[in-house]
Amino acid sequence: MSDSRQTRSALVIGGGIAGPVTAMALRQAGIEATVYEAYPHTAEGAGAGLSLAPNGLDALDAIGLGHLVRPLGKPMAGIVLQDWAGRRLGEFGNPPGVPPMQFLRRAELYRALYQEAERRGVRIEHGKRLVGVEEGADQVTALFADGTRTTADVLIGADGLRSTVRPLVDPAAPGPQYAGLISFGAELERVAVPGTEDRMNMSFGKRAFFGYQVFEDASAVWFVNLPHREPMTAAEVQRTPARQWLPRLREAFAEDGTPATRLIEATDPDQLIIVGPMENMPAVPTWSRGRLVLVGDAVHAPSSSSGQGASLAIESAIQLARCLRDLPHPQAFAAYEAERRPRVEKIIRATTRKNGAKAAGPVGRVLNAWALRVFSKLVKPAKMAWMFDYRIDWEARVTAAPSPSATGPVTRSAPSAAR
Ligand SMILES: Cc1cc2nc3c(=O)[nH]c(=O)nc-3n(C[C@H](O)[C@H](O)[C@H](O)COP(=O)(O)OP(=O)(O)OC[C@H]3O[C@@H](n4cnc5c(N)ncnc54)[C@H](O)[C@@H]3O)c2cc1C
Repeated sequence: MSDSRQTRSALVIGGGIAGPVTAMALRQAGIEATVYEAYPHTAEGAGAGLSLAPNGLDALDAIGLGHLVRPLGKPMAGIVLQDWAGRRLGEFGNPPGVPPMQFLRRAELYRALYQEAERRGVRIEHGKRLVGVEEGADQVTALFADGTRTTADVLIGADGLRSTVRPLVDPAAPGPQYAGLISFGAELERVAVPGTEDRMNMSFGKRAFFGYQVFEDASAVWFVNLPHREPMTAAEVQRTPARQWLPRLREAFAEDGTPATRLIEATDPDQLIIVGPMENMPAVPTWSRGRLVLVGDAVHAPSSSSGQGASLAIESAIQLARCLRDLPHPQAFAAYEAERRPRVEKIIRATTRKNGAKAAGPVGRVLNAWALRVFSKLVKPAKMAWMFDYRIDWEARVTAAPSPSATGPVTRSAPSAAR
């Protein structure tokens, strides 16, 4: 295939959230796509909760997936910020007219995407850890750890924060940096703590950060970001069993006036989800090279407190498929990056400050509390509407990006796109 021809086949590396969505979108675009996942089996049951923003759900509608995912979520109409004593610092509500964020279990989202991908005829192969690529003039070959190889027109790295494809695109690409926090979570069926009226309460405790939401049916979710100076890998964090972590978590909130200790005490060791170290991902300078391109957390991972990680991954997956549908791959990759980079980097800038605040020491905490009070008064929800108000018009034709000297958005997906 020469560079001026349309793409017919794609290898999608990584079967997390972005991988199956990319493959389904490519299939809808008439491009054959197979997903290759490193894990030997599906990740059923893995992970804790994540939020899907209205923009992520709208993006799923572009490929007919929204109706499958919407019923899985519980609404999160806003975030109430509190200090260690449970005193309210401020609230970030939903912009007027914007549907609430949805809180859902990653495992349920994952299962729904897998089942639908299967139903649509997308092949997902497990036990396929990408270790290298061979690039020819006309095609690209993926090399897997099990000694097998497979070839297609393009290779898409949907392989998450610790992407193998990212350094293959650019050996100098940055990697994730430890944010000084370890994350835990749990879901409880019934708690004796007052409901939080569809809002997630987040408190900057004396020693750690605590978030919780109690739903109408008295079920609850909570999460902790525990400061930990020494970097730890996920495996190291998980080596300490839940029954040892739980007292440490309880102890971290002993001086606080929030329901943290009560919720942690109500948690059995088998309910504790040890999520692992939190990491920040710097901006990735190069998104594609030759026949390789990146999508999802592999190329843009906002802080986990942004509530936008999965949504941006979904948006990018679908926009990449549209670009490959309408343009030969070099122009498609350029149009994709020109469409996505300004939006994702703007969202990352708007949402990254939070991790620093969570890991702060005592003086930092007082300053943060003060800054958050002022910030939440100044930032009006309507000013954040641009983040949620993003529509993908699947039918609209993508045109080639202008030369780098030109400015402004390059793909016209819809009158309301990319603000
Ligand atoms: C098991 C798991 C649990 C998670 N739990 C949560 C959670 O509770 N809350 C939350 O907010 N986010 C969670 N995340 C992250 C979240 O899914 C992402 O931030 C977001 O949805 C973007 O998804 P992604 O597909 O880009 O990346 P991911 O969801 O991280 O998916 C990347 C996939 O690529 C695979 N992969 C990596 N390297 C290779 C390779 N060399 N070859 C082949 N495959 C490879 C990984 O095994 C993984 O399945 C979790 C991720 C994973 C993998």
